[in-house]
Amino acid sequence: MSRMRLGVIVSLSEGPAEAIEKVHALGFPTCQVTCWNPDLYTREAAVQLRARAKQLGVEVTTIWAGMPGRYVWDLIEGPDTIGLVPEAPRPGRLQALKRGADFADWVGVPSITTHVGFIPDNPSDPLYAGTVRALKEIAAYCADRGQAFWFETGQETPVTLLRTIEDIGADNLGINLDPANLLLYGKANPVDALDVFGPYVRGVHAKDGEYPTDGRHLGVEKPLGQGRVNFPALLAKLAALGYQGAITIEREISGPQQTADIVAGKRFLEEIIASL
Ligand code: MG
Repeated sequence: MSRMRLGVIVSLSEGPAEAIEKVHALGFPTCQVTCWNPDLYTREAAVQLRARAKQLGVEVTTIWAGMPGRYVWDLIEGPDTIGLVPEAPRPGRLQALKRGADFADWVGVPSITTHVGFIPDNPSDPLYAGTVRALKEIAAYCADRGQAFWFETGQETPVTLLRTIEDIGADNLGINLDPANLLLYGKANPVDALDVFGPYVRGVHAKDGEYPTDGRHLGVEKPLGQGRVNFPALLAKLAALGYQGAITIEREISGPQQTADIVAGKRFLEEIIASL
């Protein structure tokens, strides 16, 4: 019997209490709270988030901390704009991540997560050394607060992510596996990726999609069960690895169709988990 629990991503920008109420209304026991604006990381918001989560019995499994500045979600400008890899925005982004860690500490959430970016496959690339230095700094900052730092997958190959984790050498590092991202960026089959970094997986996004079909744009994100992610195989492999974290639904559209796809996705995953 699997102990995996379902969740959904909500945004702090919806309002801390409102975000938790949405999770509860959709019938999920867990969530990840995302935030791209560090100015929202206030003590007041932390108190409200923590109180409403406790009242409604919702567990916040990570603060998904976006960082400021220009991000281009494609294969051309993505390497120069996403995460901690680009050098110019790195110091400011590191500061934003630390504010996210402070906020997680106030809420009592044991991890933060972000996209580190297109980590260079070549370990001699100066951008690699700089990125690893920045990651050592945020890992230590999280460790001081009793937190883990989780890598959101997608822009790097699984083996490059594994090498990065080895080179940082901290014991509070984990992976938030987004299986669709590995496809969307053309980096790996997500089921096979577990052979490389499976023991590090602490969080999972339930998101679906396809490989790129040209060299410039990401593959297309799809509703759960309609893309190329083999969820029965993925969840069975996670169960075999002893994974007991959350399975957090992510659907990157907005409006009523997003809610409809989340509700349908919840049923889709419940059936698979019940069969494990
Ligand atoms: Mg994701």
